[in-house]
Amino acid sequence: MGLFQKILIANRGEIALRVQRACHEMGIQSVAVHSTADAQAMHVRLADESVCIGPPPARDSYLNVAAILSAATITGADAIHPGYGLLSENAEFADMVEAHGLTFIGPSPAHIRMMGDKIAAKAAMASLGVPLVPGSDGQLADIEQARAVAARVGYPVLIKAAAGGGGRGMKVALTSDDLDEAWSVARTEARAAFGNDAVYLEKYLDRPRHIELQVLADNFGSVVHFGERDCSLQRRHQKLLEEAGSPAVTRQQRDALGATVTAALSRLGYRNAGTLEFLYQDGQFTFIEMNTRLQVEHPVTEMVCNVDLVREQIRIAAGERLGYGQVDVTFNGHAIECRINAEDPETFTPTPGLVSAFHAPGGLGVRVDSALYSGYKVPAYYDSLIAKLIVHAPTRAEAIARMRRSLAEFAVVGIKTTLPLHQRIVEAPEFLAGDYTIHWLERFVAGG
Ligand code: ADP
Repeated sequence: MGLFQKILIANRGEIALRVQRACHEMGIQSVAVHSTADAQAMHVRLADESVCIGPPPARDSYLNVAAILSAATITGADAIHPGYGLLSENAEFADMVEAHGLTFIGPSPAHIRMMGDKIAAKAAMASLGVPLVPGSDGQLADIEQARAVAARVGYPVLIKAAAGGGGRGMKVALTSDDLDEAWSVARTEARAAFGNDAVYLEKYLDRPRHIELQVLADNFGSVVHFGERDCSLQRRHQKLLEEAGSPAVTRQQRDALGATVTAALSRLGYRNAGTLEFLYQDGQFTFIEMNTRLQVEHPVTEMVCNVDLVREQIRIAAGERLGYGQVDVTFNGHAIECRINAEDPETFTPTPGLVSAFHAPGGLGVRVDSALYSGYKVPAYYDSLIAKLIVHAPTRAEAIARMRRSLAEFAVVGIKTTLPLHQRIVEAPEFLAGDYTIHWLERFVAGG
């Protein structure tokens, strides 16, 4: 089977453009889909073909499965790339794509389903020898059980939604006095956001780093990892700045974690791209969840490993072999990504509106993944991510210098963005020392 002729990209913004770029370099035609709010969007302008799939709200357009499948049929696409977010981790969508005789560029629907249920994901990983954050053995039946598990693992604890994502349905109980409230709020939030109020409990770690491992697997049993990303700089459990590699992880630790993870995924029969997320504290990596898709922060890995992860996803989905092994994956220098959001840098309120002028930084080792242009109007309907600024340099210190220089060149005029916040982060002593945990940025933002 050869490569695909035409790929429909079921997404918008920078990631739609990112996938399109890989398609075009591979000689594959791209089909963009868009809402009426995105008729002038860059991912539509640069696509070979485009189809309007509905009105502005995502549920009527980018999440409209019937419209997307019709668009694929009328344009004669042979595969669909879901990007991240939206339908990317929707197992029913992946099933339907396959049922329509198209290829879903991603893992099997069964693996998407398994990892989408965080309780099932943890059980699967535990059975494959991957260490977990201490907590409940599966779903909690009632508050009494939650109380017993919390007493066993020790406070503080987290109540988390089995169907969770985006930091929703997750509540901390610092002491046993908070448990009732955390229990009911997490369940209410989970029911409202995911239509599923199954929850589990984890010990709330007080100073972990968020370390995740990028993996690719083909259909012939080859599984390779591309090292770790440090995504500890978060606000409200949302990542703002990521690095590859982690300033806290040694080469030996990377190799050991990589060996555990690739062995586990190989036994699972996993295919395509995936990311395993861990908390790292006191020299221990403990698994929290797996994402069965391309991630926002994938470019830092691409820069350090000199790999095009989207190209690899497409090749794997087309039935090609990876064609290389772990020894062929090399790690070169250091990369940092800043997520630039259309948000007030102090209050984080979204700031949709007209971008009257746009100037992206450039030069050696600088990459900007963005669908912005001068005169573009950031719509109010979608995610506030408007650009990813990625830098790569031989050392972490040089990468930081390059990031400072690039942030200073970056101009987005007309709307407020989080650029000033990133300028502050890259001057902070803790960041420079690489000495931060998942809790650091929250306090930094609050001015403490
Ligand atoms: P989501 O899928 O909603 O993003 P995750 O399970 O990936 O949820 O967790 C998101 C973030 O929440 C993590 O990156 C980490 O910062 C924090 N977190 C999750 N579990 C724990 C825990 N047990 N202790 C401390 N922080 C946690």
